[in-house]
Formats: sequence, structure tokens, C-alpha cells
Amino acid sequence: AAQEGFDADEVESELAAAGHGPLPVLAVVGRPNVGKSTLVNRIIGRREAVVEDRPGVTRDRVTYEAEWAGRRFKVVDTGGWEQDVLGIDASVAAQAEFAIEAADAVVFVVDATVGATDTDEAVVKLLRRAGKPVVLCANKVDGPSAEADAAMLWSLGLGEPMPVSALHGRGTGDMLDEVLRALPEAPAQTFGAALGGPRRIALIGRPNVGKSSLLNKVAGEERVVVNELAGTTRDPVDELIDLGGQIWKFVDTAGIRKRVHLQEGADYYASLRTAAAVEKAEVAVVLIDASESISVQDQRIITMAVEAGRALVLAINKWDTLDEERRYYLEREIETELAQIAWAPRVNVSARTGRHMEKLVPALETALAGWETRVPTGRLNAFLGELVAAHPHPIRGGKQPRILFGTQAGTKPPRFVLFASGFLEAGYRRFVERRLREEFGFEGTPIHISVRVRE
Ligand code: GDP
Ligand code: GDP
Repeated sequence: AAQEGFDADEVESELAAAGHGPLPVLAVVGRPNVGKSTLVNRIIGRREAVVEDRPGVTRDRVTYEAEWAGRRFKVVDTGGWEQDVLGIDASVAAQAEFAIEAADAVVFVVDATVGATDTDEAVVKLLRRAGKPVVLCANKVDGPSAEADAAMLWSLGLGEPMPVSALHGRGTGDMLDEVLRALPEAPAQTFGAALGGPRRIALIGRPNVGKSSLLNKVAGEERVVVNELAGTTRDPVDELIDLGGQIWKFVDTAGIRKRVHLQEGADYYASLRTAAAVEKAEVAVVLIDASESISVQDQRIITMAVEAGRALVLAINKWDTLDEERRYYLEREIETELAQIAWAPRVNVSARTGRHMEKLVPALETALAGWETRVPTGRLNAFLGELVAAHPHPIRGGKQPRILFGTQAGTKPPRFVLFASGFLEAGYRRFVERRLREEFGFEGTPIHISVRVRE
């Protein structure tokens, strides 16, 4: 009865569009100015029109969802990654590194009107070594006369160059068909979970917060399991650690242990590592240094994890350094600066003394449970019905938009679709999220709410 204004097929197709299993990840890499961002925009174009709100998230996304021929996948835009501190070669290599670690397939974009450069050749080497499927996009082939330029790119040894004009859309359909052939149905990184394998944890935080110390503490005190479990030996950059009688997979520990300190662009590389680790993980432990002020960099790292839709645990490290006064200010700071993740379970730890290490596992379990929570449609609508009756949307311009019906379209993280009779203001959507959390928990997980409007 609550579904007035929608027919069953419509609801179903909206849900299919909003439903979220784990999606395979496509990375788009290439030199600056070859047209990566233009191509990504073309690939995701159709989905940008969806009215969507991600509470607490204000930053530009680098990961988008796309759909082609009925299949959905994620696209990582590396176009914004060119930074002044890095030379072109370094930034392109970093993209390739990301693609190697986090993507299931890669679109390598080359400017066909320029031809293959030394930088392009270098990336080809990296990509080949990774063994991930690569689709070669010969871009800026705006008309038939430029197709000969595309053919020249056979020389890269990546197979057939797909002639494309990202700007005009020419050839992008054929290229996307090729992408679908290259992409696995489900991301490789979730095979473990699908088979009941170990949960995947990323330890993230800015340099010197204590990631490697924490890792050593948990790996040192507990038995370190050598990669001997069947099916878990594929990725040598991860470590299996027995915590509280359960085996957990700490992803990208190689990156934490390596501690590469580059003079220039170190932060930049650190943030790429974080992005890659977060992509691979189910739950992220964000470390904050209690002895220092919470910084923009901390915020950015948290945003990355939230944006990626991962479960999240907040670990305030170096608790041993606190005196009364600092502790007072730290609490105020956490309250104001980390308000966007007020829902995350928090542990106050010291990687140095081992304080409260035993609280880590319960926090991880809480966050993962919230992340996987599914609210039955009946219960959700009973709740929404009461909510709307008690707190109707404010009247705007003589109209009063109303939530008609809602459903949880997915988990990991929980995703909701609300069908409404008009545009819901951001403030009201935040209110709905707050009440959803009060009612159903969702501790330790971002939740995603999209609104479909029937005008
Ligand atoms: P990125 O740095 O690789 O992300 O490249 P951009 O997407 O920002 O594109 C760089 C420039 O190339 C822009 O001026 C685009 O308009 C242009 N461009 C991108 N794709 C094409 C194309 O297919 N044909 C032509 N002629 N120009 C393109
Ligand atoms: P990473 O860069 O995040 O891996 O940080 P590290 O683990 O290398 O730690 C950076 C510095 O902080 C080192 O000097 C550590 O000894 C120190 N440190 C790490 N955890 C703690 C802690 O809990 N208490 C104190 N006092 N120092 C810590």
C-alpha cells in the first residue's frame, strides 16, 4: 500500500540499479592529457544524474559506479592524480601501481595522435608484470582518418588498440564491450570472503601514527601464520594474523613494513597506498596519533575509507603519551573533528605498551556486523511510516515531499533506496539517516541512502 505511484516493475528495476554486490574494479591509467577524465566521464555519464546523498561526505570521489550492457562495475579515475610534486613518470607509475594492487582490469589510455612515448612504454612494462587484463584505448581518434594512428599502437604489444574518441563517444561502445570481457564477474579480492576466508583489515593512517608498531604488536604477540592456508597464498603483500583465536588478513602489510621514505611526494604515495589498501579491505582501522592535533590528512584518510564504503574502527594510538590536559583537549577535538564518523567504534590503544590491544577484535567484529546488517523491508517501512507521520518533511513552495516507501538494496555497506513524492532536502535526509542509526544500529559502518523521486 505504501508503494503508491510506483508499479512493481519500476521498483524492481530501481532496486536492481541500486543493489550492491561487490563490484569489480576498473582502473583508467595513462599519461596526463591523454583523455582519461574525459573517458571516465563518458563511461559513467548515465549514472551521474541519480539523486544521491552520502551523508558526511563532501570530497570529490575518485571511484565511480558505471554500467554497461547490464553489468555494473567501479571505475577509478586516476586523472586527478597528477601532482606538481611528482614528475610525469612517477605519477603515471603510481597509477599503474594502484591498478596493479586494487583493480581487476585496466584501461590503458594512449593519445593516438601523439603515438607511444617512452612513458607509455614504461607503463606497459609495469602492467605486463601485474598480469591484470589490460584494454588498450587509442584515444583522440575523432574520425576515420585517425584510425591509422590507432593501428600504430599495436607496437605496444598489448593486443588490439581500440580506436576511441572519448570526447565525441566514437568507439567507446566497442571498447566497453572489450572491458566487460576483461572484467571478472566479481572482484578477485572478495573471493576470500565468499569462500568464508579470513576477514580483510587495512591499517591506515598518516605516516608515523604507529601503523607498523601496531602491526608488530599484533603479529608479534600472537602467532604469525605463515601463508599456508589453501587459497590465501596468492598475495604476498598481505599477512595472516591470528587475533583472538581467529585468523585475520591484514592487507598490504608490505606497504606498511617497507616504509619507503621518498623526499618528495611521500604523502602522495602514502595516500595512494591507503587508497589501494582500503579497496582491498572489508574493514579499515584508522589510526590517529593522540599526541598530535587531528589534521586535514587524517580527515582525508577517513574520507577515503568512508567513500569506499568500508567498515571502520577508530584507533586512537599513543594513548601512553597523554597527560590530563592533553586528554581533555583530545576528547573535544575528536568530538568536533571526527563528527563525520561518530558512529565508528573507538579503541584507545598504545602500540608501544600494548594497552587495550584486546579491544581491537570486538571493535572489528562490531563494525563488520554493522556493515553486514540487513533490515527486512517490512520492518523498515513500519519504521519509515512512523517517522514520516511524526516528523513530516517541511513544506516548501506549497508542497510537502513525502517518503512513500523504502527498502534496503544492499549490504557491505548498508544501502537504502527511498522512494519519495518530491525532492528531499539534505537536512531531512541526514535526519532520516540519524534515525535509521538510532533504530537499527549500524555501528562502525557508513550507510548510503539514495532517493528516487517521482515528480
Ligand atoms: P587526462 O589528463 O588524461 O585526464 O585528460 P583529460 O580528460 O583532461 O583530457 C585532456 C584534453 O584532451 C582535454 O582538452 C580534452 O578535451 C581532450 N580530449 C580528451 N579526449 C579527446 C578525444 O577523444 N579527442 C580529442 N580531440 N580531444 C580529446
Ligand atoms: P607508521 O609510519 O604509521 O608505521 O608509524 P610507526 O609504527 O613507524 O611509528 C612512528 C613512531 O611512533 C615510532 O617512533 C614509534 O615508536 C612511535 N609509536 C608508535 N606507537 C606508539 C605508541 O603507542 N606510543 C608511543 N609513545 N609511541 C609510539
